[in-house]
Amino acid sequence: MQIVFATNNRNKLKEVQSLIPKDIKLLSLEDISCFEDVPETQDTIEGNAIQKAEYIKKHYGYDCFADDTGLEIEALNGEPGVYSARYAGEQRNSEDNIQKVLLNLKDTSLRRAQFKTVIALELHGSQQLFTGTCKGDITLEKKGEKGFGYDPIFKAEGYDKTFAEITLEEKNRIGHRGKAVNQLIAYLNNI
Ligand code: IMP
Repeated sequence: MQIVFATNNRNKLKEVQSLIPKDIKLLSLEDISCFEDVPETQDTIEGNAIQKAEYIKKHYGYDCFADDTGLEIEALNGEPGVYSARYAGEQRNSEDNIQKVLLNLKDTSLRRAQFKTVIALELHGSQQLFTGTCKGDITLEKKGEKGFGYDPIFKAEGYDKTFAEITLEEKNRIGHRGKAVNQLIAYLNNI
């Protein structure tokens, strides 16, 4: 089986590729010659995942899945949430986003947060959603070089290392995207 993962984010492709069974061939947007910005203009994480998957199916004709992820911080009323990529501005810069989070939390010890990933699957004319969450805390400062995005300031519950200090295998096992992808794989294995 061959299916498009509607992303240009190499880190995500790598994460998901390492989880998907070998008999499922994952195509990237580049592989289907999609070089445009796929719209993600909805105001929920679910809405954006659905919008991206439906767009690729409609304009390129491929069965596909798309994911959208947000970091929801309790003390910031769920922000940055659906706006995680451009929290500090349209430059979509991870370092700027991290600094904005740390600044907004500098006067509080309430650091509870969760990552949430929603995957929307367009397959054989129907749509399915899979959700994975990972609860944890925002650290006081950045730590680690691995991963991407907000990984250097997020510690999963029960862990004393940030997502940027643990291996990809470990992050996949306990992380939001891994949980959502495992549901997707279970579904694909049962059709
Ligand atoms: P996207 O919309 O899923 O591409 O991600 C939205 C924002 O969340 C981007 O700034 C990403 O860097 C960040 N992000 C997505 N997934 C992760 C993750 O697994 N760890 C840390 N940051 C992430």
